[in-house]
Amino acid sequence: MKTIGVIGGMSWESSAEYYRLLNRYAKEKLGGHHNAPSLMLTLDFAAIEASQRAGDWEGLGEQLAAAAAQLQRGGAELVILATNTMHRVYEPIVQAINVPFIHIADPTGRALRVAGVERVGLLGTRYTMEHAFYAGRLREKYGLQTVIPDELDRQQVHRIIYDELCHGVINPDSQRIYQNVIGDLAARGAQAVILGCTEITLLIGQQDSVLPVFDTTALHAQAAVDFAIGTEDATA
Ligand code: GLU
Repeated sequence: MKTIGVIGGMSWESSAEYYRLLNRYAKEKLGGHHNAPSLMLTLDFAAIEASQRAGDWEGLGEQLAAAAAQLQRGGAELVILATNTMHRVYEPIVQAINVPFIHIADPTGRALRVAGVERVGLLGTRYTMEHAFYAGRLREKYGLQTVIPDELDRQQVHRIIYDELCHGVINPDSQRIYQNVIGDLAARGAQAVILGCTEITLLIGQQDSVLPVFDTTALHAQAAVDFAIGTEDATA
């Protein structure tokens, strides 16, 4: 089984979830005492978050490229990045390594296609919902049309991620806000919703949603394990 390198810390609450899921899926697939050989490089989210607000995507790209290269030097045979938002700097990361990298939108795009979804709601940070990198990939590679919340709802979805979920705060009022936002996306024709931020899974599960939920954290971790075991080429 290949060693999975994880660029984590964005936030560590979701990285902990990745660690749990990678090992759980490996055990489910292989049984016995198997787990997922892995390395996690945890970056300090305070600096990352400040650079996001400052719009320094070039500097962030350099930092994440260096992190990916460090994981490869440490023995990672594939690399994943445990945040949707930071896939905005996908290009410099893949240029810095010559081991495979699994883009977080790809396992989700594939699962949506298999489910026959054409129009999908997207929840995530402002960067993920509003910048072209994420919806563009879903459209170009998987033919998916995305629907995002309106301006006020986007503000709330973003605030809850940074002020609560990244601090491990699970607030029932915020869960209701997300449920209402998902209801609105459904009313606007979304057939499913992408939990396009790796912390949203801490707040919303399938039981909380009127739409079928596609959880990027779970789908990404699953794809990494499948690739590490050699059952699937998730990097295609
Ligand atoms: N983990 C989040 C995501 O998946 C947000 C934190 C970040 O900005 O990286 O987008």
